[in-house]
Amino acid sequence: MAKYDYDLFVIGAGSGGVRAARLAAMSGARVMVAEEHRVGGTCVIRGCVPKKLFVYASRFADDFADAQGFGWSLSGESFDWPKLVAAKDREITRLELAYSATLDRHKVEVFAERATLVSPHEVRLENSARIITAKTILVATGGRPNLDYALPGIEHVITSNEVFDLKEFPRRIVIAGGGYIAVEFASIFNGLGAEVTLIYRGDKFLRGFDEDLRDGLAAAMTARGIRIITGQKFTKIAKTAAGLAGTMSNGETLEADQIMFAIGRSPNTQGLGLEKLGVQLDPEGAIVVDNYSQSTVPSIYAVGDVTNRVNLTPVAIREGHAFADSLFGKKPWIVDYTTIPTAVFSTPEIGTVGFTEHEARAQYKDVHVYKGSFRPMKVIIAGRSEKMLVKIIVEGESDRVVGVHVLGPDAAEIVQMAAIAVRMRATKADFDQTMALHPSAAEELVTLREKWVAPGEAAG
Ligand code: FAD
Repeated sequence: MAKYDYDLFVIGAGSGGVRAARLAAMSGARVMVAEEHRVGGTCVIRGCVPKKLFVYASRFADDFADAQGFGWSLSGESFDWPKLVAAKDREITRLELAYSATLDRHKVEVFAERATLVSPHEVRLENSARIITAKTILVATGGRPNLDYALPGIEHVITSNEVFDLKEFPRRIVIAGGGYIAVEFASIFNGLGAEVTLIYRGDKFLRGFDEDLRDGLAAAMTARGIRIITGQKFTKIAKTAAGLAGTMSNGETLEADQIMFAIGRSPNTQGLGLEKLGVQLDPEGAIVVDNYSQSTVPSIYAVGDVTNRVNLTPVAIREGHAFADSLFGKKPWIVDYTTIPTAVFSTPEIGTVGFTEHEARAQYKDVHVYKGSFRPMKVIIAGRSEKMLVKIIVEGESDRVVGVHVLGPDAAEIVQMAAIAVRMRATKADFDQTMALHPSAAEELVTLREKWVAPGEAAG
């Protein structure tokens, strides 16, 4: 008889957990998964997927306006929020069922309840109070939105967990935060016709992104009618007859139908029972793991946002994949965290890979910057003035392209492909020798010839 009920017990059926469970089962392991909310996790249920659907919805406003420059006459356009929410619900339910079917096909048992750890080889299912034993336990519980619980009136605000299911469209919304989720939702609600204010305690949003992109996006969002307030935070939120009122540090009050907090996320480790087993957590509560995602307790592993390495879906998936291959597939490998492309689905959108100019200058002695700013073809006839920005960072000595940054339509699609070249250590000469694809916006990446000279820097 087997010593344990299962070879692998996975806590959390999100991006990392589902990938690990399926691949371990494909290698012959007996696998069980516990999920307390919905199969698919944050990305599918209340993250990337519904967000991108809302982004698409928000951009039709531009299309309708632009169409008129191309000879179309439109009338009677209107937007129906409950219809969008219902369409989104249908799509995430379809994906949830597809994920469940995949697990089912690979004979992975899924239990729809919360699980906690009892010992290095035992998990407790909280509803049924069953104890399950497993040789290996994988914690893939993701993260949760942060809230400032000491703030008076915090119970009135929403987070990304609630925003996808609001019953009524908020005509006026205030979003607190400066990360990509805050910026994306500011654009979404702006595109859908709401009055949007973005408040951030720092001096510039999107810390860690290239400065030109941060400045360019802030200017474009302001031009699109989003009020951006920096250097402020809320000191109080109160319910009023007309909705909500948020008082800022400077005493000014912002009135809104909804106030959304997007002030970062924390690893979901609370109440899991990890500390008493000796699983080391970092100061933010993330599970400390080695390159093979093994925690300080040898039978307990962790992948995805709960480890707070790089909190993105493709990274969680790859960590789950590497874990399953290494432990159950007899093909050990570790995840390479360099050159991870990423996007901000604001409008206009950001796509970025590799070093920012600032990071490159800190890293290398000789850095060359190439940048171009232009109005995309479609925008000119449409009569809009919004510019696209393309920026390439080159390490001078080797001529290697170490960063590509794009602000504008399809930036994410463009940068996903550029990431292959950056990863393959392509040089600026490789970019230059690549034939342009005309007419396209991406051709700017292979036609930028003139080095940008910073004020005070000698040309050469
Ligand atoms: P998750 O997908 O969060 O899955 C964890 C699962 O564990 C959840 O289903 C949870 O219910 C379950 N769980 C937790 N505790 C327990 C327990 N004790 N017992 C049982 N089940 C439990 N990433 C991108 O790459 N691109 C994007 O555009 C993007 N957009 C995002 C937009 C938003 C609004 C948010 C919030 C996130 C976004 N992300 C995006 C990040 C992405 O969603 C996460 O990086 C990814 O989902 C992490 O996967 P994971 O497997 O670590 O955890």
